[in-house]
Amino acid sequence: MNQASSARIIPVDPFDYLVFGGTGDLALRKLYPSLLQRDADGQLPAKARIFGAARHDGDRQAFVDQVKAHCREYLGPQFPEAAWERFAERLDYLRMDVTKTEDFARLRDILDHEPDAIRVYYLAMAPSLFGQTAANLHAHGLHENGARIVLEKPVGRDLETFQQIDDQVRAHFEENQIYRIDHYLGKETVQNLAALRFSNILFTHVWDADYIDHVQITVAETVGLGERAGYYDRYGAMRDMVQNHLLQLLCLVAMEPPSQLEQDMLRDEKLKVLRALRPWGNTISNDVVFGQYEKGNIGSQEVPGYLEELGADSRTETFVALRTYVDNWRWKGVPFYLRTGKRLASRHSEIVIQFKNVAHSVFDETITATQLQPNRLVLRLQPDEGVSLELMTKDPGPGGMRLRQAKLDLSFQKEFDLHFPDAYERLLLDVVRGNSTLFMRRDEVEAAWQWMGPLLTHWQDSSDKPRPYAAGSWGPLDSNYMIYKDNNRWHEEAPA
Ligand code: NAP
Repeated sequence: MNQASSARIIPVDPFDYLVFGGTGDLALRKLYPSLLQRDADGQLPAKARIFGAARHDGDRQAFVDQVKAHCREYLGPQFPEAAWERFAERLDYLRMDVTKTEDFARLRDILDHEPDAIRVYYLAMAPSLFGQTAANLHAHGLHENGARIVLEKPVGRDLETFQQIDDQVRAHFEENQIYRIDHYLGKETVQNLAALRFSNILFTHVWDADYIDHVQITVAETVGLGERAGYYDRYGAMRDMVQNHLLQLLCLVAMEPPSQLEQDMLRDEKLKVLRALRPWGNTISNDVVFGQYEKGNIGSQEVPGYLEELGADSRTETFVALRTYVDNWRWKGVPFYLRTGKRLASRHSEIVIQFKNVAHSVFDETITATQLQPNRLVLRLQPDEGVSLELMTKDPGPGGMRLRQAKLDLSFQKEFDLHFPDAYERLLLDVVRGNSTLFMRRDEVEAAWQWMGPLLTHWQDSSDKPRPYAAGSWGPLDSNYMIYKDNNRWHEEAPA
Protein backbone atom coordinates (compact mmCIF):
# COMPACT_ATOMS: atom_id res chain seq x y z
CA MET A 1 0.00 0.00 0.00
CA ASN A 2 1.35 3.40 -0.90
CA GLN A 3 1.28 5.94 1.81
CA ALA A 4 2.23 9.56 2.01
CA SER A 5 5.80 10.08 3.10
CA SER A 6 6.75 12.57 5.73
CA ALA A 7 9.93 13.49 3.84
CA ARG A 8 11.04 16.98 4.67
CA ILE A 9 13.01 19.25 2.43
CA ILE A 10 15.16 21.40 4.66
CA PRO A 11 17.05 24.05 2.68
CA VAL A 12 20.72 24.37 3.50
CA ASP A 13 22.68 27.58 4.01
CA PRO A 14 24.26 29.34 1.01
CA PHE A 15 27.35 27.50 -0.21
CA ASP A 16 30.04 27.38 -2.87
CA TYR A 17 30.77 23.82 -4.00
CA LEU A 18 34.16 23.42 -5.64
CA VAL A 19 34.55 20.12 -7.43
CA PHE A 20 38.23 19.54 -8.14
CA GLY A 21 38.34 16.94 -10.87
CA GLY A 22 35.15 18.62 -11.97
CA THR A 23 34.97 17.07 -15.43
CA GLY A 24 35.79 13.53 -14.38
CA ASP A 25 33.61 10.47 -14.40
CA LEU A 26 32.57 10.70 -10.76
CA ALA A 27 31.66 14.37 -10.94
CA LEU A 28 29.62 13.99 -14.12
CA ARG A 29 27.87 10.74 -13.26
CA LYS A 30 27.22 11.27 -9.58
CA LEU A 31 27.94 14.69 -8.12
CA TYR A 32 26.17 17.10 -10.51
CA PRO A 33 23.11 14.88 -11.02
CA SER A 34 22.77 14.63 -7.23
CA LEU A 35 23.05 18.38 -6.75
CA LEU A 36 20.57 18.93 -9.56
CA GLN A 37 18.05 16.64 -7.88
CA ARG A 38 18.44 18.50 -4.61
CA ASP A 39 17.92 21.76 -6.46
CA ALA A 40 14.79 20.40 -8.11
CA ASP A 41 13.48 19.58 -4.63
CA GLY A 42 14.03 23.18 -3.60
CA GLN A 43 16.86 22.42 -1.20
CA LEU A 44 19.53 24.69 -2.66
CA PRO A 45 19.47 28.31 -1.60
CA ALA A 46 19.35 31.07 -4.22
CA LYS A 47 22.98 31.94 -3.74
CA ALA A 48 24.46 28.43 -4.03
CA ARG A 49 27.22 28.21 -6.63
CA ILE A 50 28.86 25.12 -8.11
CA PHE A 51 32.26 25.13 -9.81
CA GLY A 52 33.92 22.38 -11.75
CA ALA A 53 37.71 22.70 -11.79
CA ALA A 54 40.05 20.86 -14.14
CA ARG A 55 43.15 21.59 -16.23
CA HIS A 56 41.91 21.41 -19.79
CA ASP A 57 40.84 24.34 -21.90
CA GLY A 58 37.16 24.96 -21.62
CA ASP A 59 34.57 27.61 -21.05
CA ARG A 60 31.46 27.92 -19.01
CA GLN A 61 29.03 27.08 -21.82
CA ALA A 62 30.87 23.92 -22.85
CA PHE A 63 30.93 22.83 -19.21
CA VAL A 64 27.23 23.51 -18.70
CA ASP A 65 26.43 21.53 -21.86
CA GLN A 66 28.60 18.66 -20.68
CA VAL A 67 26.95 18.59 -17.26
CA LYS A 68 23.48 18.73 -18.82
CA ALA A 69 24.19 15.86 -21.19
CA HIS A 70 25.44 13.69 -18.31
CA CYS A 71 22.61 14.61 -15.97
CA ARG A 72 20.15 13.74 -18.71
CA GLU A 73 21.83 10.44 -19.38
CA TYR A 74 22.26 9.50 -15.76
CA LEU A 75 18.85 10.59 -14.49
CA GLY A 76 16.90 9.42 -17.53
CA PRO A 77 13.18 10.11 -17.11
CA GLN A 78 13.85 11.69 -13.71
CA PHE A 79 15.78 14.54 -15.29
CA PRO A 80 14.02 17.59 -13.81
CA GLU A 81 13.49 19.67 -16.92
CA ALA A 82 11.85 22.57 -15.07
CA ALA A 83 14.74 22.92 -12.63
CA TRP A 84 17.53 22.80 -15.18
CA GLU A 85 17.82 26.50 -16.08
CA ARG A 86 18.10 27.57 -12.46
CA PHE A 87 20.70 24.86 -11.82
CA ALA A 88 22.66 25.82 -14.94
CA GLU A 89 22.91 29.40 -13.63
CA ARG A 90 24.79 28.10 -10.63
CA LEU A 91 27.44 26.31 -12.68
CA ASP A 92 30.82 27.61 -13.75
CA TYR A 93 34.03 26.09 -15.03
CA LEU A 94 37.43 26.93 -13.60
CA ARG A 95 40.47 26.06 -15.57
CA MET A 96 43.10 25.33 -12.98
CA ASP A 97 45.78 22.89 -12.03
CA VAL A 98 45.71 21.97 -8.37
CA THR A 99 49.49 21.55 -8.38
CA LYS A 100 49.99 25.21 -9.34
CA THR A 101 49.83 27.56 -6.37
CA GLU A 102 49.21 30.60 -8.57
CA ASP A 103 45.95 29.10 -9.91
CA PHE A 104 44.48 29.37 -6.43
CA ALA A 105 44.76 33.16 -6.34
CA ARG A 106 42.04 33.42 -8.98
CA LEU A 107 39.96 30.90 -7.11
CA ARG A 108 40.22 33.01 -3.98
CA ASP A 109 39.06 36.11 -5.88
CA ILE A 110 36.03 34.23 -7.15
CA LEU A 111 35.13 32.81 -3.76
CA ASP A 112 35.63 36.15 -2.05
CA HIS A 113 32.59 37.47 -3.93
CA GLU A 114 30.53 35.43 -1.48
CA PRO A 115 32.52 35.68 1.76
CA ASP A 116 29.75 34.22 3.92
CA ALA A 117 29.05 31.17 1.79
CA ILE A 118 30.03 27.78 3.22
CA ARG A 119 32.93 26.49 1.15
CA VAL A 120 33.09 22.86 0.21
CA TYR A 121 36.07 21.44 -1.68
CA TYR A 122 35.27 18.08 -3.16
CA LEU A 123 38.42 16.27 -4.28
CA ALA A 124 37.19 14.03 -7.11
CA MET A 125 40.71 13.38 -8.38
CA ALA A 126 43.53 10.95 -7.83
CA PRO A 127 44.43 10.86 -4.10
CA SER A 128 48.05 11.66 -5.00
CA LEU A 129 46.77 15.23 -5.61
CA PHE A 130 45.01 15.60 -2.26
CA GLY A 131 48.01 16.86 -0.29
CA GLN A 132 48.97 19.56 -2.76
CA THR A 133 45.40 20.72 -3.15
CA ALA A 134 45.00 21.06 0.61
CA ALA A 135 48.31 22.91 0.89
CA ASN A 136 47.39 25.33 -1.88
CA LEU A 137 43.97 26.02 -0.41
CA HIS A 138 45.64 26.71 2.92
CA ALA A 139 48.30 28.94 1.40
CA HIS A 140 45.52 31.20 0.10
CA GLY A 141 43.53 31.20 3.32
CA LEU A 142 40.80 29.13 1.72
CA HIS A 143 40.74 26.65 4.61
CA GLU A 144 39.31 29.28 6.96
CA ASN A 145 35.77 29.98 8.18
CA GLY A 146 34.82 26.35 8.58
CA ALA A 147 35.52 25.33 4.98
CA ARG A 148 35.06 21.60 4.41
CA ILE A 149 37.16 19.25 2.33
CA VAL A 150 35.76 15.98 0.98
CA LEU A 151 38.08 13.07 0.19
CA GLU A 152 36.98 10.37 -2.23
CA LYS A 153 37.99 6.82 -1.45
CA PRO A 154 40.10 4.79 -1.81
CA VAL A 155 42.72 6.92 -0.10
CA GLY A 156 45.99 5.02 -0.25
CA ARG A 157 46.73 1.37 -0.87
CA ASP A 158 47.47 0.40 2.73
CA LEU A 159 47.72 1.87 6.20
CA GLU A 160 51.00 3.63 5.53
CA THR A 161 49.98 5.30 2.27
CA PHE A 162 46.59 6.24 3.71
CA GLN A 163 48.29 7.93 6.65
CA GLN A 164 50.74 9.73 4.37
CA ILE A 165 47.98 11.26 2.25
CA ASP A 166 45.70 11.92 5.18
CA ASP A 167 48.53 13.58 7.13
CA GLN A 168 49.13 15.90 4.19
CA VAL A 169 45.50 17.00 4.28
CA ARG A 170 45.44 17.22 8.06
CA ALA A 171 48.43 19.52 8.01
CA HIS A 172 46.10 22.14 6.52
CA PHE A 173 42.59 21.22 7.67
CA GLU A 174 41.23 20.23 11.09
CA GLU A 175 39.75 16.76 11.52
CA ASN A 176 36.25 18.23 11.81
CA GLN A 177 36.68 19.88 8.40
CA ILE A 178 37.58 16.60 6.67
CA TYR A 179 34.82 14.44 5.19
CA ARG A 180 36.02 10.99 4.10
CA ILE A 181 33.20 9.81 1.95
CA ASP A 182 31.90 6.28 1.60
CA HIS A 183 28.72 6.66 -0.36
CA TYR A 184 27.35 3.33 0.89
CA LEU A 185 26.64 5.03 4.18
CA GLY A 186 24.25 7.39 2.41
CA LYS A 187 22.12 4.62 0.92
CA GLU A 188 18.53 4.45 2.08
CA THR A 189 18.74 0.80 3.11
CA VAL A 190 21.90 1.37 5.06
CA GLN A 191 20.13 4.11 6.98
CA ASN A 192 17.28 1.73 7.36
CA LEU A 193 19.47 -0.81 9.02
CA ALA A 194 19.73 1.52 11.99
CA ALA A 195 15.97 2.18 11.88
CA LEU A 196 15.26 -1.54 11.74
CA ARG A 197 17.64 -2.53 14.49
CA PHE A 198 16.98 0.27 16.89
CA SER A 199 13.28 0.95 16.54
CA ASN A 200 11.86 -2.58 16.48
CA ILE A 201 11.87 -4.48 19.74
CA LEU A 202 11.34 -7.59 17.64
CA PHE A 203 15.00 -7.59 16.73
CA THR A 204 16.55 -6.18 19.88
CA HIS A 205 16.87 -9.43 21.76
CA VAL A 206 17.72 -11.73 18.88
CA TRP A 207 20.60 -9.70 17.51
CA ASP A 208 23.46 -11.81 18.79
CA ALA A 209 25.27 -15.13 18.72
CA ASP A 210 22.47 -16.88 20.62
CA TYR A 211 20.03 -16.35 17.75
CA ILE A 212 22.03 -15.46 14.65
CA ASP A 213 23.78 -18.26 12.83
CA HIS A 214 25.76 -16.16 10.39
CA VAL A 215 25.75 -12.96 8.35
CA GLN A 216 26.35 -12.60 4.61
CA ILE A 217 27.21 -9.33 2.92
CA THR A 218 27.27 -9.39 -0.87
CA VAL A 219 27.99 -6.51 -3.22
CA ALA A 220 27.79 -7.96 -6.71
CA GLU A 221 28.25 -5.98 -9.91
CA THR A 222 27.74 -7.02 -13.51
CA VAL A 223 30.00 -4.30 -14.89
CA GLY A 224 33.54 -5.10 -15.89
CA LEU A 225 36.47 -2.74 -15.76
CA GLY A 226 36.73 -1.91 -19.45
CA GLU A 227 38.74 1.26 -19.89
CA ARG A 228 39.12 1.62 -16.13
CA ALA A 229 41.10 -1.63 -15.85
CA GLY A 230 44.40 0.29 -15.79
CA TYR A 231 43.27 2.34 -12.80
CA TYR A 232 41.61 -0.60 -11.02
CA ASP A 233 44.62 -2.84 -11.42
CA ARG A 234 46.45 -0.88 -8.72
CA TYR A 235 43.66 -1.52 -6.23
CA GLY A 236 41.58 -4.66 -6.73
CA ALA A 237 38.41 -5.69 -4.93
CA MET A 238 39.89 -5.75 -1.42
CA ARG A 239 41.01 -2.15 -1.51
CA ASP A 240 38.25 -0.82 -3.74
CA MET A 241 35.27 -2.44 -2.01
CA VAL A 242 36.03 -4.48 1.11
CA GLN A 243 38.20 -1.97 2.96
CA ASN A 244 35.45 0.61 2.85
CA HIS A 245 31.95 -0.36 1.69
CA LEU A 246 31.72 -3.93 2.95
CA LEU A 247 33.42 -3.25 6.26
CA GLN A 248 31.17 -0.27 6.88
CA LEU A 249 28.12 -2.46 6.29
CA LEU A 250 29.54 -5.08 8.62
CA CYS A 251 30.02 -2.40 11.28
CA LEU A 252 26.42 -1.26 11.05
CA VAL A 253 25.20 -4.84 11.47
CA ALA A 254 27.53 -5.70 14.32
CA MET A 255 27.88 -2.49 16.33
CA GLU A 256 26.38 -1.98 19.76
CA PRO A 257 23.51 0.50 19.86
CA PRO A 258 24.96 3.97 20.35
CA SER A 259 23.13 6.03 22.94
CA GLN A 260 22.21 8.39 20.10
CA LEU A 261 22.74 8.33 16.35
CA GLU A 262 24.99 11.34 16.62
CA GLN A 263 28.28 11.95 14.85
CA ASP A 264 30.90 10.53 17.17
CA MET A 265 28.65 8.18 19.08
CA LEU A 266 27.90 6.19 15.94
CA ARG A 267 31.49 6.30 14.77
CA ASP A 268 32.79 5.20 18.18
CA GLU A 269 30.65 2.08 17.99
CA LYS A 270 31.75 1.28 14.44
CA LEU A 271 35.35 1.67 15.48
CA LYS A 272 34.91 -0.89 18.26
CA VAL A 273 33.69 -3.42 15.70
CA LEU A 274 36.65 -2.80 13.40
CA ARG A 275 38.99 -3.28 16.32
CA ALA A 276 37.25 -6.52 17.28
CA LEU A 277 37.66 -8.11 13.84
CA ARG A 278 39.62 -11.31 14.22
CA PRO A 279 43.22 -10.88 13.06
CA TRP A 280 44.27 -13.10 10.18
CA GLY A 281 45.97 -16.27 11.39
CA ASN A 282 47.23 -19.58 10.02
CA THR A 283 43.91 -20.35 8.36
CA ILE A 284 44.09 -17.35 6.08
CA SER A 285 44.13 -19.52 2.93
CA ASN A 286 40.90 -21.21 3.99
CA ASP A 287 39.22 -17.96 4.90
CA VAL A 288 39.72 -15.95 1.72
CA VAL A 289 39.16 -16.60 -1.98
CA PHE A 290 40.47 -14.22 -4.61
CA GLY A 291 39.08 -14.45 -8.11
CA GLN A 292 39.48 -12.83 -11.50
CA TYR A 293 36.91 -12.89 -14.28
CA GLU A 294 37.47 -14.54 -17.61
CA LYS A 295 35.36 -14.03 -20.66
CA GLY A 296 31.73 -15.05 -20.39
CA ASN A 297 28.20 -13.84 -20.86
CA ILE A 298 26.34 -11.10 -19.10
CA GLY A 299 22.79 -11.76 -20.18
CA SER A 300 23.03 -12.42 -23.90
CA GLN A 301 26.15 -10.33 -24.35
CA GLU A 302 29.57 -11.95 -24.58
CA VAL A 303 32.15 -9.95 -22.66
CA PRO A 304 35.94 -10.21 -22.51
CA GLY A 305 37.96 -11.29 -19.50
CA TYR A 306 39.81 -8.91 -17.21
CA LEU A 307 43.26 -9.65 -18.63
CA GLU A 308 42.02 -9.00 -22.15
CA GLU A 309 40.62 -5.65 -21.04
CA LEU A 310 43.83 -4.81 -19.25
CA GLY A 311 46.05 -5.98 -22.10
CA ALA A 312 48.61 -7.36 -19.65
CA ASP A 313 49.13 -10.11 -17.10
CA SER A 314 47.94 -9.34 -13.58
CA ARG A 315 47.18 -10.98 -10.22
CA THR A 316 44.73 -8.27 -9.25
CA GLU A 317 41.54 -9.72 -7.82
CA THR A 318 38.21 -8.68 -9.31
CA PHE A 319 36.41 -10.88 -6.81
CA VAL A 320 36.90 -11.66 -3.17
CA ALA A 321 34.98 -13.81 -0.71
CA LEU A 322 36.06 -14.04 2.90
CA ARG A 323 35.01 -15.28 6.28
CA THR A 324 35.73 -13.27 9.37
CA TYR A 325 34.59 -13.01 12.99
CA VAL A 326 33.88 -10.17 15.36
CA ASP A 327 35.58 -11.34 18.50
CA ASN A 328 33.40 -9.91 21.21
CA TRP A 329 30.72 -11.11 23.56
CA ARG A 330 27.79 -10.44 21.24
CA TRP A 331 29.17 -12.15 18.17
CA LYS A 332 31.20 -15.01 19.59
CA GLY A 333 31.59 -17.70 16.92
CA VAL A 334 29.27 -16.09 14.34
CA PRO A 335 30.83 -16.12 10.87
CA PHE A 336 30.53 -12.99 8.77
CA TYR A 337 30.86 -13.85 5.08
CA LEU A 338 31.78 -10.96 2.82
CA ARG A 339 31.73 -11.18 -0.96
CA THR A 340 32.13 -8.73 -3.79
CA GLY A 341 33.04 -8.91 -7.43
CA LYS A 342 32.82 -7.51 -10.91
CA ARG A 343 31.11 -9.26 -13.79
CA LEU A 344 28.93 -11.40 -11.54
CA ALA A 345 25.60 -12.92 -12.45
CA SER A 346 23.49 -9.97 -11.38
CA ARG A 347 23.80 -6.49 -9.96
CA HIS A 348 22.69 -7.11 -6.50
CA SER A 349 23.79 -6.02 -3.06
CA GLU A 350 22.35 -7.35 0.12
CA ILE A 351 22.91 -8.15 3.76
CA VAL A 352 21.53 -11.48 4.90
CA ILE A 353 21.01 -12.17 8.58
CA GLN A 354 20.54 -15.90 8.90
CA PHE A 355 18.96 -16.93 12.18
CA LYS A 356 19.44 -20.27 13.92
CA ASN A 357 16.99 -23.13 13.76
CA VAL A 358 14.28 -23.32 16.39
CA ALA A 359 15.56 -24.94 19.56
CA HIS A 360 13.24 -27.92 19.27
CA SER A 361 11.02 -29.07 16.42
CA VAL A 362 7.46 -30.11 17.26
CA PHE A 363 6.98 -31.40 13.71
CA ASP A 364 7.52 -34.93 12.47
CA GLU A 365 10.89 -36.09 11.23
CA THR A 366 10.16 -35.55 7.55
CA ILE A 367 9.01 -31.99 8.03
CA THR A 368 11.88 -31.25 10.35
CA ALA A 369 14.43 -32.67 7.94
CA THR A 370 13.07 -31.36 4.65
CA GLN A 371 10.81 -28.36 5.23
CA LEU A 372 11.85 -26.52 8.35
CA GLN A 373 14.14 -23.64 7.44
CA PRO A 374 15.69 -21.02 9.67
CA ASN A 375 14.43 -17.42 9.39
CA ARG A 376 16.31 -14.96 7.28
CA LEU A 377 16.24 -11.21 7.29
CA VAL A 378 17.41 -9.82 3.96
CA LEU A 379 18.26 -6.17 3.48
CA ARG A 380 18.45 -5.33 -0.20
CA LEU A 381 20.69 -2.41 -1.02
CA GLN A 382 20.24 -2.60 -4.76
CA PRO A 383 18.65 -2.76 -7.17
CA ASP A 384 15.21 -2.79 -5.48
CA GLU A 385 15.97 -1.31 -2.05
CA GLY A 386 13.95 -3.01 0.63
CA VAL A 387 13.76 -5.56 3.39
CA SER A 388 12.34 -9.04 3.48
CA LEU A 389 11.84 -11.43 6.33
CA GLU A 390 11.69 -15.08 5.42
CA LEU A 391 9.36 -16.96 7.75
CA MET A 392 8.00 -20.46 8.00
CA THR A 393 4.25 -20.78 7.48
CA LYS A 394 1.81 -23.59 7.05
CA ASP A 395 1.48 -24.65 3.44
CA PRO A 396 -2.19 -23.80 2.84
CA GLY A 397 -4.87 -26.36 2.13
CA PRO A 398 -5.86 -29.78 3.34
CA GLY A 399 -3.56 -32.80 3.60
CA GLY A 400 -2.03 -32.42 7.03
CA MET A 401 0.69 -30.18 8.31
CA ARG A 402 3.24 -29.06 5.77
CA LEU A 403 5.58 -26.12 6.13
CA ARG A 404 6.52 -23.58 3.53
CA GLN A 405 8.80 -20.60 3.56
CA ALA A 406 7.12 -17.26 2.80
CA LYS A 407 8.39 -13.71 2.65
CA LEU A 408 7.23 -10.55 4.29
CA ASP A 409 8.54 -8.28 1.61
CA LEU A 410 8.92 -4.53 1.89
CA SER A 411 10.00 -2.72 -1.25
CA PHE A 412 10.67 0.89 -0.34
CA GLN A 413 9.82 2.06 -3.82
CA LYS A 414 6.42 0.39 -3.78
CA GLU A 415 5.60 1.17 -0.17
CA PHE A 416 6.57 4.80 -0.15
CA ASP A 417 5.50 6.87 -3.09
CA LEU A 418 8.65 8.90 -3.23
CA HIS A 419 11.75 9.62 -5.26
CA PHE A 420 14.56 7.71 -3.59
CA PRO A 421 17.57 9.95 -3.36
CA ASP A 422 20.91 8.71 -4.59
CA ALA A 423 23.32 8.20 -1.70
CA TYR A 424 25.36 11.17 -2.92
CA GLU A 425 22.36 13.50 -2.68
CA ARG A 426 22.20 13.04 1.06
CA LEU A 427 25.94 13.10 1.63
CA LEU A 428 26.74 16.14 -0.51
CA LEU A 429 24.36 18.25 1.53
CA ASP A 430 25.41 16.68 4.84
CA VAL A 431 28.79 18.24 4.13
CA VAL A 432 27.19 21.66 3.75
CA ARG A 433 25.22 21.07 6.96
CA GLY A 434 28.44 20.12 8.75
CA ASN A 435 27.07 16.71 9.65
CA SER A 436 29.82 14.11 9.47
CA THR A 437 27.88 11.19 11.00
CA LEU A 438 27.88 9.30 7.71
CA PHE A 439 31.52 9.98 6.90
CA MET A 440 34.50 8.01 8.11
CA ARG A 441 36.70 9.26 10.86
CA ARG A 442 40.41 8.78 10.49
CA ASP A 443 40.68 6.16 13.22
CA GLU A 444 37.99 4.07 11.48
CA VAL A 445 39.89 4.06 8.21
CA GLU A 446 43.10 3.22 10.06
CA ALA A 447 41.46 0.32 11.88
CA ALA A 448 40.11 -1.03 8.58
CA TRP A 449 43.54 -0.87 6.94
CA GLN A 450 45.16 -2.38 10.04
CA TRP A 451 42.92 -5.41 9.84
CA MET A 452 43.41 -5.79 6.10
CA GLY A 453 47.17 -5.25 6.07
CA PRO A 454 48.29 -8.82 6.89
CA LEU A 455 45.86 -10.21 4.33
CA LEU A 456 47.20 -7.91 1.63
CA THR A 457 50.76 -8.82 2.55
CA HIS A 458 49.93 -12.51 2.54
CA TRP A 459 48.49 -12.21 -0.96
CA GLN A 460 51.36 -10.10 -2.20
CA ASP A 461 53.93 -12.58 -0.90
CA SER A 462 52.19 -15.65 -2.24
CA SER A 463 52.63 -16.93 -5.75
CA ASP A 464 48.99 -17.99 -6.04
CA LYS A 465 46.93 -16.71 -8.90
CA PRO A 466 43.38 -15.52 -8.41
CA ARG A 467 40.84 -18.26 -9.11
CA PRO A 468 39.33 -17.78 -12.55
CA TYR A 469 35.58 -17.39 -12.93
CA ALA A 470 33.46 -16.90 -15.99
CA ALA A 471 31.88 -13.48 -16.40
CA GLY A 472 28.20 -13.87 -15.57
CA SER A 473 28.75 -16.50 -12.85
CA TRP A 474 28.76 -16.07 -9.07
CA GLY A 475 32.53 -16.14 -8.85
CA PRO A 476 34.96 -19.02 -8.40
CA LEU A 477 33.63 -22.29 -7.01
CA ASP A 478 36.09 -22.01 -4.13
CA SER A 479 33.90 -19.23 -2.77
CA ASN A 480 31.05 -21.75 -2.50
CA TYR A 481 33.33 -24.38 -0.96
CA MET A 482 34.51 -21.88 1.63
CA ILE A 483 30.99 -21.44 2.94
CA TYR A 484 29.88 -25.09 2.39
CA LYS A 485 32.57 -26.15 4.82
CA ASP A 486 30.51 -24.43 7.52
CA ASN A 487 27.35 -26.13 6.24
CA ASN A 488 26.12 -22.85 4.85
CA ARG A 489 25.27 -21.58 1.38
CA TRP A 490 25.28 -18.22 -0.29
CA HIS A 491 21.83 -16.73 -0.26
CA GLU A 492 21.11 -17.13 -3.99
CA GLU A 493 21.73 -20.85 -3.55
CA ALA A 494 19.70 -21.20 -0.37
CA PRO A 495 16.35 -23.00 -0.57
CA ALA A 496 13.62 -20.53 -1.49
P1 NAP B 1 38.64 10.81 -13.89
O1 NAP B 1 37.45 10.51 -14.71
O2 NAP B 1 39.98 10.37 -14.36
O3 NAP B 1 38.67 12.40 -13.66
C1 NAP B 1 39.73 13.07 -13.08
C2 NAP B 1 39.43 14.55 -13.09
O4 NAP B 1 40.51 15.24 -12.45
C3 NAP B 1 39.30 15.18 -14.47
O5 NAP B 1 38.32 16.18 -14.42
C4 NAP B 1 40.67 15.79 -14.70
O6 NAP B 1 40.57 16.79 -15.67
C5 NAP B 1 40.95 16.31 -13.29
N1 NAP B 1 42.37 16.53 -12.97
C6 NAP B 1 43.39 15.65 -13.09
N2 NAP B 1 44.53 16.23 -12.69
C7 NAP B 1 44.22 17.49 -12.29
C8 NAP B 1 44.97 18.57 -11.77
N3 NAP B 1 46.30 18.48 -11.57
N4 NAP B 1 44.34 19.73 -11.47
C9 NAP B 1 43.00 19.84 -11.65
N5 NAP B 1 42.24 18.84 -12.13
C10 NAP B 1 42.84 17.68 -12.45
O7 NAP B 1 38.49 10.21 -12.41
P2 NAP B 1 37.15 9.76 -11.66
O8 NAP B 1 36.73 8.42 -12.16
O9 NAP B 1 36.16 10.85 -11.70
O10 NAP B 1 37.69 9.53 -10.19
C11 NAP B 1 38.10 10.60 -9.37
C12 NAP B 1 38.42 10.06 -7.98
O11 NAP B 1 37.22 9.51 -7.42
C13 NAP B 1 39.44 8.94 -7.98
O12 NAP B 1 40.23 9.03 -6.82
C14 NAP B 1 38.59 7.68 -7.90
O13 NAP B 1 39.27 6.65 -7.25
C15 NAP B 1 37.43 8.14 -7.06
N6 NAP B 1 36.18 7.43 -7.30
C16 NAP B 1 35.64 7.37 -8.54
C17 NAP B 1 34.43 6.73 -8.73
C18 NAP B 1 33.76 6.68 -10.08
O14 NAP B 1 32.64 6.13 -10.15
N7 NAP B 1 34.33 7.20 -11.13
C19 NAP B 1 33.78 6.12 -7.66
C20 NAP B 1 34.36 6.20 -6.39
C21 NAP B 1 35.55 6.85 -6.24
P3 NAP B 1 41.85 17.35 -16.48
O15 NAP B 1 42.59 16.17 -16.98
O16 NAP B 1 41.28 18.24 -17.51
O17 NAP B 1 42.64 18.11 -15.46
